[in-house]
Amino acid sequence: APLHLENFCSEIADIFQMRTGSHHTISFTVQGECNHVQMDEDLLTCILTNLLSNAIKYSPQPSYIKFDLNCNNGIATFQVQDQGVGIPQKDQSNLFQSFYRASNVGRIQGTGLGLAIVKRCVDLHGGEIQIESQQNIGTTVTVTLPLQFV
Ligand code: ATP
Ligand code: MG
Repeated sequence: APLHLENFCSEIADIFQMRTGSHHTISFTVQGECNHVQMDEDLLTCILTNLLSNAIKYSPQPSYIKFDLNCNNGIATFQVQDQGVGIPQKDQSNLFQSFYRASNVGRIQGTGLGLAIVKRCVDLHGGEIQIESQQNIGTTVTVTLPLQFV
């Protein structure tokens, strides 16, 4: 069934805002025509829930998380930006390996599988993922997926 991408993302943003309560403020913005697209809801849920849960898990309380969707020129760009602990440069090339966790996670719990799963979901969808991060400043994850309207 055709997916209303704007509503879909907005609902996920709402769910994560409810989940974190007053600990974080999650903003959601959308640009471009994002309706009636052909995307797999489960893959998309897998991608976005992992990125948003990382943003929540690895950032201080309170802080802002920015979630943006942009549909343009046949590409959907999903961006999740946090003001968290960031990822040391030396760890950044390993993030898609199963069980890999960066050296600065401290006591924050995790299996190190989330981004490995996300990478596979993005690949299945013919998309790309990019992670930019500075330690103690924050992390921006950008996923681009080809857009097919139905
Ligand atoms: P889980 O399998 O429960 O998701 P995880 O969060 O540790 O465990 P990934 O989501 O795969 O595993 O992330 C891998 C590592 O990348 C994390 O352990 C953390 O070191 C780093 N990381 C991922 N996202 C962020 C983020 N937004 N800010 C800071 N570090 C991050
Ligand atoms: Mg994770």
